[in-house]
Amino acid sequence: MSARTGVVVAIDGPSGSGKSSASRGVATRLGLRYLDTGAMYRAMTWWMLRHDVPVRDPAAVAERCHEPDIRSGTDPVHPTITVDGMDVAAAIRTPEVTGAVSPVSTVPQVRARLLELQREVIDGGGIVVEGRDIGSVVAPDADVKVYLTAEVAARAARRSAEEGGTDLAVTESSLLARDRIDSTRTASPLTIAEGAVHVDSTPYTLEEVVELIVGLVDAAG
Ligand code: C5P
Repeated sequence: MSARTGVVVAIDGPSGSGKSSASRGVATRLGLRYLDTGAMYRAMTWWMLRHDVPVRDPAAVAERCHEPDIRSGTDPVHPTITVDGMDVAAAIRTPEVTGAVSPVSTVPQVRARLLELQREVIDGGGIVVEGRDIGSVVAPDADVKVYLTAEVAARAARRSAEEGGTDLAVTESSLLARDRIDSTRTASPLTIAEGAVHVDSTPYTLEEVVELIVGLVDAAG
């Protein structure tokens, strides 16, 4: 195993493209830290719902987004996330949070707050960071940038399995709705960053995708 001390690997892509498994796999293989920025947006959303903030009112969300204390652990084998000291790893994956996270993520003040937290974690490098705007906004100088996609049916099947077998058609339409909001928002939309390698994971196994990205890191360093 090689530990590339300063390297930053940015992995962006839509929901269910296999980003989390691939990012954690690459970080584990290379002895790097791991940051799931989607979990941070989910944690912010969970806090808003818990405090009865109307999540579709951008002004209300903006006003309170500085309150939650969100902390991410960076061990790729056991990623953790807490809000105000509470373990929310499971709570942030409920359909309620999934349904509200994209509107909350469109609020520029939310993005600015989480960007600051993300940069504190990324500082010093040695990390694989996954999200929607990592290569474009959060870490535009990343050593390796990957834009990971998959066909929508494959993404829905993956998400449905992760969520314990949710209805495929419902999962697919929820994915497409989030894709639409994430790609069309004004603040840091999901986009293929300049210099990113576009990988369609549909025909590959997880191991093959990890291998491919590890190869890109090797080639960069
Ligand atoms: O990756 P995951 O599906 O858990 O992300 C949840 C949501 O968080 C996305 O649908 C998107 O709205 C938001 N997000 C974002 N920017 C990121 C990561 C996630 O807007 N860097």
